[in-house]
Amino acid sequence: MAMELSRRQVLRGAAAGATVAFTANPLVAAAAATPVLGEYDVVVVGAGAAGMTAALTAARRGLSTVVVEKAPTFGGSAARSGAGIWIPNNEVILAAGVPDTPQKAAGYLSAVVGPSVPAARQQAFLANGPAMISFVMANSPLRFRWMEGYSDYYPELPGGMPNGRSIEPDYLDGNVLGAELAHLNPAYLTVPAGMVVFSADYKWLNLAAVNAKGAAVAAECLARGTAAALRGEKPLTMGQSLAGGLRAGLLAANVPVWLNTPLQDLVIENGRATGVLVSRDGSAGLVRARRGVIVGSGGFEHNAAMRTQYQRQPTGWSVGAKENTGDGIRAGQRAGAALDLMDDAWWGPAIPLPDQPYFCLAERTLPGGLIVDTGGDRFVNEAAPYSDVVHVMYDRNPNDQCIPAWLIVDQNYRNRYLFKDVLPTLPLPNDWYASGAVFRSSTVDGLAGAIGIPPATLRRTVTRFNSLAWSGADADFRRGASAYDHYYTDPGVFPNSCLAALWLPPYYAFKIVPGDLGTKGGMRTDARARVLRADGSVIPGLYAAGNASAAVMGRSYAGAGSTIGPAMTFGYIAGNDV
Ligand SMILES: Cc1cc2nc3c(=O)[nH]c(=O)nc-3n(C[C@H](O)[C@H](O)[C@H](O)COP(=O)(O)OP(=O)(O)OC[C@H]3O[C@@H](n4cnc5c(N)ncnc54)[C@H](O)[C@@H]3O)c2cc1C
Repeated sequence: MAMELSRRQVLRGAAAGATVAFTANPLVAAAAATPVLGEYDVVVVGAGAAGMTAALTAARRGLSTVVVEKAPTFGGSAARSGAGIWIPNNEVILAAGVPDTPQKAAGYLSAVVGPSVPAARQQAFLANGPAMISFVMANSPLRFRWMEGYSDYYPELPGGMPNGRSIEPDYLDGNVLGAELAHLNPAYLTVPAGMVVFSADYKWLNLAAVNAKGAAVAAECLARGTAAALRGEKPLTMGQSLAGGLRAGLLAANVPVWLNTPLQDLVIENGRATGVLVSRDGSAGLVRARRGVIVGSGGFEHNAAMRTQYQRQPTGWSVGAKENTGDGIRAGQRAGAALDLMDDAWWGPAIPLPDQPYFCLAERTLPGGLIVDTGGDRFVNEAAPYSDVVHVMYDRNPNDQCIPAWLIVDQNYRNRYLFKDVLPTLPLPNDWYASGAVFRSSTVDGLAGAIGIPPATLRRTVTRFNSLAWSGADADFRRGASAYDHYYTDPGVFPNSCLAALWLPPYYAFKIVPGDLGTKGGMRTDARARVLRADGSVIPGLYAAGNASAAVMGRSYAGAGSTIGPAMTFGYIAGNDV
């Protein structure tokens, strides 16, 4: 049970600093009195993509709003992210000439997601997404750019767009945040010193050694960095820009963000969410919400017990923010919320490097690499959408072991492409080898022996793959058949830019495990972002958005930005509805 307060126990209108006695919640039964830290129209839990958008919306609608944040920083996974945002028909892509229409978007989303997600929620996302982007631009320093060429993930479906409809935040000078910049959650990957890099640049930076446009983009990133330094700016892009820009919007709207203030439980009074119990400065406190509580506390990617309870094993190679331990989902569940999609996540193949999992995008799909299972056979189109690749890994396990799988490349691949932050031709760090994440051998047989795969099978697989690459058609897994497959490839490779033979020793094997950007299961919500019970009734005053709620994408992933786009949109919907 969430913390139930009777009317008598709740001192309505009490000023901050007053105390409230609890009796019903076992978590706090021992506490004689809990101080009231404040009373607002809206309490938002979590300062990530969903939470900050919700708070900005509620505040700009004239509601007094506070954000309680568990971490000592703001931004959550959103700040760590590449911040691709998938919102069809937003004003940025329409101004750029993208031929999107509401009909195309609706057809595509329903084809991707299917009937498991109610049509009303899909429609709410599509109808409110463009308004949300316009609202954010009007109420924060954020501006956005079209990620031209980043295909929808299923561009061949009706309404799919091979040239993409995703956007990402534009450059932001961190000086707009003043001292608050010090509290911005750091990015997952550090951009090379002196460069200003957008998500859309990565495709080209990988190719800088072999492609004229790649070299030009690298030079442009450097030039941007130099110009920013000369202007005395603190450049923010990708998730840093998104989180920084939303926080700047909250600063301008006078919305306090209380760091180091984790939600402990929801306060439910006569069936209605009326506040939150938090811990602040080491002691419990109550924050009252006159109109409602919006939970944007992210997923449960770093809660091992929940992952064991709900998900297929092995799992847990997440790159999400470490504070995302499902606290809001658990609190919602105690308040009666139904949960959906708890077995799923925003999956992607990852390499378990010693410091943290590496969510590999281009490395997995560039030509000259193939992925094999522990028997040495290919089992998937390596360039398929990352979520799909991991679904296949789980579906085939344990009969045909794919966990771990192995990405096999040769020295020719290594000479041509960036691998994470290791420049072409340069040796991989020793600790990658020492940790068992990477192996190298001068022969395919030797590599197979090192990773425990039958040498004859791996040799046969590589030989077969090479013949497919020379023919230009992957008759086995259709790699390169979709326009999406060609995003992270090398246009200089013929006849199929997705496929190149492996021929130059030494050969390398990278361990591939099912990583994730975060989980996608959580509280079931309706088209107004209101939290639902199992019988479909609404829990009054309680909203959820982002990874604390079950994803509007269902088990799929429509295009780059399919987590942040809906997270911000349903945060916006909640902020309006409350
Ligand atoms: C490296 C990386 C790259 C990514 N790239 C993309 C991308 O390009 N496009 C895309 O769409 N998605 C991307 N994602 C995923 C995306 O960042 C997340 O899915 C998204 O941020 C989820 O939004 P959210 O608001 O639900 O959670 P978050 O942004 O993680 O925010 C949740 C917040 O809640 C806080 N919190 C947790 N528990 C509590 C508590 N008990 N009390 C108070 N606060 C709490 C957390 O500290 C955090 O600040 C990426 C993720 C990562 C890690």
